[in-house]
Amino acid sequence: MGGLTAGIGFNVMHDGGHGSFSTKKIWNKIAAFSVNALGASAIMWNTKHNIIHHTYTNIDGIDDDIEIRPMLRMCSTQKKYWIHKYQHIYVWFLYTQLLIIWVFATDYTKYFKQKVGSVPLKKMSTFDHFAFWIAKIAYYGAMIVLPIFMVGFVKWLIGFLIIAMVAGLVLSVVFQLAHTVEETAFPMPTGDANKIENEWAIHQIQTTANFAPKNKLISWLVGGLNFQIEHHLFPKISHIHYPAISKIVKQTCEEFGVKYIEYRRMRHAIVSHAMHLKKMGRA
Ligand SMILES: [Zn+2]
Repeated sequence: MGGLTAGIGFNVMHDGGHGSFSTKKIWNKIAAFSVNALGASAIMWNTKHNIIHHTYTNIDGIDDDIEIRPMLRMCSTQKKYWIHKYQHIYVWFLYTQLLIIWVFATDYTKYFKQKVGSVPLKKMSTFDHFAFWIAKIAYYGAMIVLPIFMVGFVKWLIGFLIIAMVAGLVLSVVFQLAHTVEETAFPMPTGDANKIENEWAIHQIQTTANFAPKNKLISWLVGGLNFQIEHHLFPKISHIHYPAISKIVKQTCEEFGVKYIEYRRMRHAIVSHAMHLKKMGRA
């Protein structure tokens, strides 16, 4: 069930949020709301992912995906603590906790501060406030209250922890492999105008990596998120087209001398993520 929860996140919710699940707006909205099956808020996800992460990819201080301070140091501009020396070891346990922290804590921090990190949320309508609370209550009802009532507290706790930890680990690893590996860049704005030196498309390619492009099973399970370069360039196109698009993108990168970061196998990307964290913990 943990794996399925992550699968819904990758294949239904993520596409729905980007408007690439269907040509009909209503189906995209419904698909986007499946984030509630993960226990997370659709409104917070939309701001965190579609707006902030996709626009300010890997920019320290803005991109919420690399904001796991103080537990993890994701790039060299973040402050280093002695514990980071071991971050490549404890990171895997931390990832198992991320969904739980997200569902029970960070969604509320964002809600009450009306901010995702340093970026203010778009003003929430009355409907948004209702949607936020109804989704939370429904999730707690279905995933906590009802199962405790049916099987008792201890059995529920064991089951819930397994589901949430597996889902958290799978979600975190797949999303992290796209941007925090050895070869991806972490550009900082320069000059008074706070500008990013490269144009948007090049910035996206330099901060993003693909993995296991030939593995159809992985592509299917992770909803095309192993083709993150294509996803970041064309987030509104359905992920089923990414393998075909990737050939064109790769060729264009070659033509213009832009490095296209790709790991042939998923395990290579996982090792590279660990190596990146090891480097950040020591450098
Ligand atoms: Zn996305």
